[in-house]
Amino acid sequence: MLTPDRTVHTTCPYCGVGCQIDLHIKNEMVYRVDGRFDNDVNNGKLCVKGRFGYDFIHAPDRLTHPLIKNDQVAEDRPLTMSPAHPVTLSGFAPTSWETALDTVAVRLRETREKYGPDSIAILTSAKCTNEENYLLQKFARAVIGTNNIDHCARL
Ligand code: SF4
Repeated sequence: MLTPDRTVHTTCPYCGVGCQIDLHIKNEMVYRVDGRFDNDVNNGKLCVKGRFGYDFIHAPDRLTHPLIKNDQVAEDRPLTMSPAHPVTLSGFAPTSWETALDTVAVRLRETREKYGPDSIAILTSAKCTNEENYLLQKFARAVIGTNNIDHCARL
């Protein structure tokens, strides 16, 4: 049996249940995941995603920074891309978080003004915390002005 270089106690990233896990790491690679017994959430148990769904951590094509369509940049800002993980995706370019968020804000405002608030819908996620989901429904209803807010758990 492999002996890990280190074990990291963390929370399963897949859903709001929040199962507690140990990542066993050897040569900076996660090779095994165990459920922890020292909590009342999962008491050592994990579903198939929490137990085995970690290939993405070391995937060579994992996205590590925002991408933006080449013709959708709101402002011309210098790109801050990760030299360790250059991603080439046809029609998309790496950009900074500032430029990506500015562009989303500009496009949302333009769309709302041109087509009305119900032209926008927001789909939030079971991976978000309760507080993040609360903020997203507030953003949809109070800022955008639409009730088009839904959650991936309904799928
Ligand atoms: S192990 Fe399964 S049930 Fe537990 S948090 Fe992860 S996805 Fe959710």
